[in-house]
Amino acid sequence: MRLSQLFTHTSKETNKAEVSRNAQLLTRAGYVSRLMAGVYQYLPLGLKVLTNIENIIREEMDAIGGQEVLMPALHPRENWEKTGRWQKVDVLYRLSSEQGGKGEPDLCLGPTHEETVTPLVAAFVQSYRDLPVAAYQIQTKFRNEPRPKSGLLRGREFRMKDMYSFHVDQADLDAFYDRTAKAYMNVYERCGVGAITLMTYASGGMFSKYSHEFQTVTPYGEDIIYRVPDSKIAINKEIIGDQEALKDIIPNYKPGDEKKLQEEKAIEVGNIFKLGTRFSEAFGMQYTDNTGKLAKIPMGCYGLGPSRLMGTIAECLSDDKGLIWPESVAPYRVGLINLKAGDARTDQLCDDLYAKLRTADASTLYDDRSDSAGAKFADMDLLGIPWHVVIGPRGLEKGVVELKNRASGEKQELSVDSAMAKLAGK
Ligand code: ATP
Ligand code: MG
Repeated sequence: MRLSQLFTHTSKETNKAEVSRNAQLLTRAGYVSRLMAGVYQYLPLGLKVLTNIENIIREEMDAIGGQEVLMPALHPRENWEKTGRWQKVDVLYRLSSEQGGKGEPDLCLGPTHEETVTPLVAAFVQSYRDLPVAAYQIQTKFRNEPRPKSGLLRGREFRMKDMYSFHVDQADLDAFYDRTAKAYMNVYERCGVGAITLMTYASGGMFSKYSHEFQTVTPYGEDIIYRVPDSKIAINKEIIGDQEALKDIIPNYKPGDEKKLQEEKAIEVGNIFKLGTRFSEAFGMQYTDNTGKLAKIPMGCYGLGPSRLMGTIAECLSDDKGLIWPESVAPYRVGLINLKAGDARTDQLCDDLYAKLRTADASTLYDDRSDSAGAKFADMDLLGIPWHVVIGPRGLEKGVVELKNRASGEKQELSVDSAMAKLAGK
């Protein structure tokens, strides 16, 4: 992509409506734009990042046997009445259609999809041979959040990967749940926040002792967690006073160990639950087991927010100059800076290198604008492109280009060929 062609641009001003660091950085860099509180539009560069994150999640869910579907955002009230959640869910957007309701809301916008996925999968499950099933989608969710002030971290409209699994028994659910937990950690690692993301014990509700949150530790987080020293385990606020649970969770627990837990602020980037048979029973979903008897179906549900994860990466991997995308999610891996646009020789070399990088599968953002060098460096830093290749008349004389790594700040002078070899096909 040539920067001169990109219809968005960076801005020095921070939008006054934005109080969160992620939204300030992402709007200044031209990745997203705020339509209203908690509702964002993804611009060309921002959509690439979101899509990269979603594709990583997709690969990890596919790898454990998840099958992708796409369910609607618009749901009939009836399904939510069946599970008793029509009145209960306070963040539910309820609305009335022309056809139904007579002024009473008869539809809602899905904040989660147990109410649609359960009858959907039930229609295809008769016997134990049809199980297990793990269906997931990456889709837009709606929640009437009371305080949507945290940019992408708390949208009223936001993206979620939600997977639902259906099993013959608890043991099969337990095994799948553990595999999903591992797949979640793979996602965070591949997105560059694995080292600061902790699997956190949370209360389990009616059907299991615990559920698990994945919490990324950062001073900008809205949640408080308690970390077990020297481990990647943490405990959330709800169960910190539960002695039984502490004994269970903290390795070699001794009374008083809870005082050694480290309190940290964190962002919930994922949450997995065992649902038991609450939803399958509500929809009359059963299967015939291998002795011909009817049996109940335990379910699991697994949520992960790609848009919140994008905001989290922006908050955690950034500095005073701007964003620092890991290569795996960056909109482009290489930023090519032409220091003297308009000069025939530099233009020629840049154009050649741009073409070569593209054929070598090194996705490239080419700054071909005729701005000052300082403005170009500042923009490429703000945009957070992982590798910067700088080409100017001085280097040309020596036959070298400058290669800079955005994360480490390290710079080296290299011949065009060695720079190419470093950047190709990663
Ligand atoms: P929170 O406690 O932060 O409100 P939640 O526990 O209600 O979140 P879940 O129902 O567990 O959220 O949703 C699954 C995942 O979807 C969360 O772990 C998070 O990554 C993402 N998510 C939830 N709510 C939002 C939101 N308002 N904006 C962006 N992402 C969200
Ligand atoms: Mg949650």
